[in-house]
Amino acid sequence: VRLKILIFLCLISAFSSVLAQSAGSDSLNDPIYAFMGNGGYDALDYQIDLRFSSDKKTVVGITTIEAIATQDLSSFNLDFGRMTVSNVLVNGESARFSQADPEMTIAPSAYLKKDQKFKVSVVYSGAPGTKLATASSFGSWFIGRTGLTALAEPSLMFTWSPVNEHPSDKATFTLKLTSSKTDTAIANGEFVERIDNPDGTTSSTYRIATPTATYFVVMAVGNWKLEEAGRVGDVRVRHYLAPKTSLVMRSAMAETSRIIEFFSQKLIPYPFKEVGVLTSDNDLGFALETQTLVTLPLSWLDDDVVASSEVVAHELAHQWFGALVTFKNHSDLFIHEGFAEYLGWVYSAYRYPDLLGSRYIEEQIEDFYPAAVYGRWVRKYTKEQFTYAMEYRLGQNTLSPEQIAKSMDLLFSSSLPTIIRADVLARVPSEGWNKFQFIAVISRLPFDHLVFDYKNFYEVIAMFGGEVPELPANWGVLTPPAKLKSEDNLFNWGVYARGATAIHALRLKIGDDAFWKLLRGFLEKYKFANASNADWLEYLASSAGQAVRDWQEHWLFDDLPPEFPELGLKPTGFPLGADFK
Ligand SMILES: [Zn+2]
Repeated sequence: VRLKILIFLCLISAFSSVLAQSAGSDSLNDPIYAFMGNGGYDALDYQIDLRFSSDKKTVVGITTIEAIATQDLSSFNLDFGRMTVSNVLVNGESARFSQADPEMTIAPSAYLKKDQKFKVSVVYSGAPGTKLATASSFGSWFIGRTGLTALAEPSLMFTWSPVNEHPSDKATFTLKLTSSKTDTAIANGEFVERIDNPDGTTSSTYRIATPTATYFVVMAVGNWKLEEAGRVGDVRVRHYLAPKTSLVMRSAMAETSRIIEFFSQKLIPYPFKEVGVLTSDNDLGFALETQTLVTLPLSWLDDDVVASSEVVAHELAHQWFGALVTFKNHSDLFIHEGFAEYLGWVYSAYRYPDLLGSRYIEEQIEDFYPAAVYGRWVRKYTKEQFTYAMEYRLGQNTLSPEQIAKSMDLLFSSSLPTIIRADVLARVPSEGWNKFQFIAVISRLPFDHLVFDYKNFYEVIAMFGGEVPELPANWGVLTPPAKLKSEDNLFNWGVYARGATAIHALRLKIGDDAFWKLLRGFLEKYKFANASNADWLEYLASSAGQAVRDWQEHWLFDDLPPEFPELGLKPTGFPLGADFK
């Protein structure tokens, strides 16, 4: 009897532990966004069917996800906590569910077995949330004059559709967008069909047929105009233009074919069937590498063709480093931004040598290097550059003698010799100086270069009544490219510019031919899949040797950037202040 009871107890505990262990995880342990993504299954395909209200503020949606269980599942999670869910079906059977933003937990009526394919459909409605659950300021649902632009970086698709929101779970997508007949409804991928419905609405369907991370999906619904721009090889070039797209923007967009040809030759052939630009008058504050249809804001890309076309080149470079080879975690952002930033520089140097000079890439690095040394926005200017910046930035206020003293101290730190400081301040009349008087005196001081903290310069600009941008609290924090720890500094310029610098340093170290061959090999190895910073280093070890790998690791991880001997840069040579003689 005893024995029997024991066996019975063992069976119960074994059974209940199977049950407890068979809930899919609510996290993929992303170092930046722990709450993003879910374990226990692999999403393969999304069918997203959205019906937009006329003001685009609300939607009614059905999302059907085809997935494969990677373990036995009693329940599993999707990322989708905010909109109202009315029904969930798993393999056609009604399933229990609960929501706690940003998670949704689904318990199918029948247990899912490891390696079993299954379909989950979620029926929902409401107003898509626009922000992350955390303090992030990134948005996803932008409504402007032209209509709606819906974006998803860094991982925001869950604010408008249930998803497994993590770049490591790439999948294919079909988007069917139903809206007013007068709207153009756009998504990336291949256009499938546009159907007029009996109720006066129109449904447009797009298919993203290659495995894609959620943040590469874009939708736009409203007053956009399709512009066909021919083909580059087998690739269809098409743009969607917001009505106020400027001539400068059009010139930058017209670079698309040339950029695709250039990168296809340097890297590997462009991997998708379409390419183009979506312009948005929504106040995005960023450009985004959305797959095959990069999204560009009109608000800050409107006055410089060369700078704008570098942004287009940067976003198109992401089609290789981002869309084709996607990072494993958000902390691997260097794989996207280091390479895209570098390739943008390479394109500008190739395209505009007369305007930008033969040292364009080297100048980018020399400009940025002091900031990398300090880990914040420290710049080194010649006296002429600095005088020009002051003329351009300072406003119309007249500063008191005390404010003039403070301005001098902010700009020159402790480098200003006491005797010069006293001499200058003795000349300030009691009514003070305006910017012209101040600049005239500064420009006659005996120095060639000034190393200054941009935060201090902004303080001086503000005292003079000049325009200072609204800066986030952590503005100016620059990390080594592979040392991201929180979303606060996710898109900091250290990842971009020092990442690009690390890549250029590699190019100079191993030579042009070996360098481009190396990049092609990396893309071939990881195409349509994911790669981490560690994968990049491992790939370097196997293709360029352990010594090159170890050296590159310093570039990606060390707080102080390594020396750049080819450019005569050392991490010790930038004391704050001017080189007074
Ligand atoms: Zn980028």
